[in-house]
Amino acid sequence: MINQLSMTPTVALPPEEEMYQALLNRNREYEGIFVVGVRTTGIFCRPACSARKPKREHVEFFAGVEQAQAAGYRACKVCQPTRAQGYEPAWLQPILAAVSAGRRLRDTDIRDSGVEPARVRRWFKANYGKTFQAWQRDQLIAAAHSRLRRSEGVTDTAFDSGFESLSGFSDAFHRLAGFTPSKSRCHKLLLVRRLLTPLGPMFAVADDDGLCLLEFADRKRLEQQLLRVQRRLNAQFVSGDHELLQATEIQLMEYFAGKRRQFDVRLQLLGTQFQRQCWQALQAIPYGQTCSYLEQASALGAPSAVRAVANANGQNSLAIILPCHRVVGKDGRLTGYAGGLWRKQRLLDLELGAA
Ligand SMILES: [Zn+2]
Repeated sequence: MINQLSMTPTVALPPEEEMYQALLNRNREYEGIFVVGVRTTGIFCRPACSARKPKREHVEFFAGVEQAQAAGYRACKVCQPTRAQGYEPAWLQPILAAVSAGRRLRDTDIRDSGVEPARVRRWFKANYGKTFQAWQRDQLIAAAHSRLRRSEGVTDTAFDSGFESLSGFSDAFHRLAGFTPSKSRCHKLLLVRRLLTPLGPMFAVADDDGLCLLEFADRKRLEQQLLRVQRRLNAQFVSGDHELLQATEIQLMEYFAGKRRQFDVRLQLLGTQFQRQCWQALQAIPYGQTCSYLEQASALGAPSAVRAVANANGQNSLAIILPCHRVVGKDGRLTGYAGGLWRKQRLLDLELGAA
């Protein structure tokens, strides 16, 4: 059922006029699709770089950082195209480090460290869709929940988490988790983290039972996917960390470096029996190869269920790990991908290049 991938490894670029317009408009949607070299300066930039825009006749477009560097361009110091898109800027690092060390930062602490709190607020709003204070509260409650599940005492946990009173801690905990701190042993929280990849930021969600969501942050219908997971597991989302999220991050980095072909993070497949069968069939498509929806349906013993198989693939909430990007149209054409067709193309190019 498997076809060797027959596409050429050169990456398709949108028409030049379109890319130049994207450049003029500083259009972030073209992040990851191209970088632009400026012949007069020898520097290359992201599409949305804030630097002054060059004349059309002075620019040259590339599909990625490697191609631009191979053509002799140096990375722009303003937009830093060699860093993963959506990376945490240097001025934010000490703040993130303090929070992950369990400190509770107020606006005055942030100002004392030499950063304007408004700048932190803007970054969190843009990257997490929530305020820094809300994100920080999530982190503290998630860490507290994990301590309480290890049978540590509520009072110690409350004060170590930077709360000034037990009732303040209990209220904040209950508001966020939907249960009281003392019930932590029998209730789960879904930990959410943003992971950076060369194709843009992704959201990953896990609890002790396994990774249950991995999606590009700008994918279509992300909200519905998150709601589905939440309903299915009957648990609240909290921004935080988990060993499974760390393992996912490391394995994704290896994958994007062409050094990993299979993922071995524990997974939770949250779907109907038919959906789970479809998703397991995806895992059987070897790295660097593609198959058609018909072939996937036939492998499941249901060749007439092509549409149902395509729908099940569309409901896959574990992008890349359950490789629905390896399923293509009958004639080898790329068809729907929730993360965008350009990402599907990039994933296939990556695998073909490494295979
Ligand atoms: Zn730049």
